[in-house]
Amino acid sequence: MSGFYGVEESRIREYARLLARTGVNVQPGQEIVINCPAEHFLFARLVAEEVYAAGAREVILRWNDSGISRLTYLHAAEEALASVPEWRGESYNYYARRGAGQISIVGSDPEAYKGVDPERMQLLEKAMDQAAAEHYRRIMASENPWTIGAVPQRKWAAKVFPGLSEEAAMTRLWEMILKAVRIDGGDAVQAWENHNRFLKEKCRMLDAYGFAKLHYKNGIGTDFTVGLVKGHIWEGGSETAGTGAVFEANMPTEEIFTMPDCRMAEGTLVSAMPLCCRGNLICDFSLTFHEGRVVDYSAGEGLETLRAVLETDEGSRRLGEVAIVPYDSPISQMKTLFYNTLFDENASCHFALGRCYPTTIAGGAGMSKEELSAAGGNHSSNHVDFMVGTADLCITGIRENGEEIRIFENGNWAE
Ligand code: ZN
Ligand code: ZN
Repeated sequence: MSGFYGVEESRIREYARLLARTGVNVQPGQEIVINCPAEHFLFARLVAEEVYAAGAREVILRWNDSGISRLTYLHAAEEALASVPEWRGESYNYYARRGAGQISIVGSDPEAYKGVDPERMQLLEKAMDQAAAEHYRRIMASENPWTIGAVPQRKWAAKVFPGLSEEAAMTRLWEMILKAVRIDGGDAVQAWENHNRFLKEKCRMLDAYGFAKLHYKNGIGTDFTVGLVKGHIWEGGSETAGTGAVFEANMPTEEIFTMPDCRMAEGTLVSAMPLCCRGNLICDFSLTFHEGRVVDYSAGEGLETLRAVLETDEGSRRLGEVAIVPYDSPISQMKTLFYNTLFDENASCHFALGRCYPTTIAGGAGMSKEELSAAGGNHSSNHVDFMVGTADLCITGIRENGEEIRIFENGNWAE
């Protein structure tokens, strides 16, 4: 019996190989940490096999389970949530310092934490962020290679395809994931190389404009201007780790992104699709900014979760990422709401509230926290992407001298 809902194991294996090779790009002798929900152990095994086949020194498994996490959030003593033992943080920091690569496999119930007190979730998140600070810093700065890939899960598949049987929904979600990561019968590695070339051309085009600001407008109420930091760099597709290895942080990825000036954002952004965040859905929401900070917000559903996100810390009300995705991107073309940010953010222009990527400003990887702040970079223990791209979105770039260039017309690249 196949554990993959009728999808040939050879194709699933090709996906595992893609994560090991194109994704984290395992180097001989390297340690690779695999983060994986326990229920996806069959897929984790395939990934581990491919990681060893690529010459890894050791595969380290870090299992997780949203069911157990839910129980922890509901019932653990508050002190236990607020303080992560040093050894646990060190288990992350230790491998990060040794240059380990990280493969994160995701795929769980989008509403796993519905009804959980967001403040209790936040306690643990903050404590973990501090305990494993070195690990998170090295990942955000791309010093260590990392990649994220998704595997279907029953409740997730049922949410995406409510009209199908469990079996059919799982098969369908597998097919869509494989299509999204370009495993469709051709040479996937070559397809990724071509894709990277396209993304990087767009990055160099926007770098050459060197916009000071971007203005967004559409018919659902978005009318918003965001400043970009001086010396910002547009990134997309593959990145180069501190070790020199080229890796792909997200599979799939269709976005190009850069660093907003977290002190310069004015106007209102209206959500284009629901956001699955911390195991809860936030729907029909809007955020209004003044001087870079969210000063007003609303949500049709999930207001409590949105409030908790915004109130995490000082930086959680400011932007850390500006990302552009054409409305006709292959994932957007699937016309499917995935209830999973890895997919939905690659179907729509988006922003992220919270910490910035230091790699998106010239010299950023070598900057101290203070230097990054002085340049307009944002700090937070959060990084929450939310989607604003619609079929009628227009984006105008504004240069330092006031010159305006339309870069996005009706949801897609203007040129
Ligand atoms: Zn993004
Ligand atoms: Zn992001």
